[in-house]
Amino acid sequence: MKRIGVLALQGAFVEHIVMLRRLGAEAVPVRLPEELEGLDGLVIPGGESTTIGKLMHLYGFNASLQRLLADRFPVLGTCAGMILLAKHVIGLKGYSLGAIDIKVRRNAFGRQVDSFEADLQIPVLGDRLYRAVFIRAPWIEGVGRGVEVLARLLDGKPVAAREGNTVVAAFHPELTGDSRFHNYFLSLVD
Ligand code: GLN
Repeated sequence: MKRIGVLALQGAFVEHIVMLRRLGAEAVPVRLPEELEGLDGLVIPGGESTTIGKLMHLYGFNASLQRLLADRFPVLGTCAGMILLAKHVIGLKGYSLGAIDIKVRRNAFGRQVDSFEADLQIPVLGDRLYRAVFIRAPWIEGVGRGVEVLARLLDGKPVAAREGNTVVAAFHPELTGDSRFHNYFLSLVD
């Protein structure tokens, strides 16, 4: 059984745990760095990247997480989680883990009221369109060489990407009944 931690400092962590359990993984909330031990992968959920970043710093997550990430540890970051994993972030100082070579803009679509849903084509999930929920979401403005873009909006803007075992999405795959995105992440976990 795959043991996946979900960073449970703030944000939509419960929904990720539910989704991962539905897919047969052992999903556990992670509130302290010691709880990273023995995991096969980690999810950093959506929420408020400034808050999650500050709490990660406060509880001493950064060093142990950097160590794991340097070792190809599988990690999925959604929305605020994507911001925290990106190498370059416009609109956020400090706290970035730099695990994926992308440039991300926070709150790129506007304010909370500009949240929206969209049907995306995500080739790695198959032909059926994927309904994605964007909540005060970031977008990806630039990707490095080793980065595979997994999904784009109709205007071409990348909103999901992968580099090695790091997967990110600007949307919230835990908020719909469609488990294909988590399934894809689990397929990368040994
Ligand atoms: N706007 C939030 C941030 O910048 C992200 C929103 C989300 O995770 N749904 O951190």
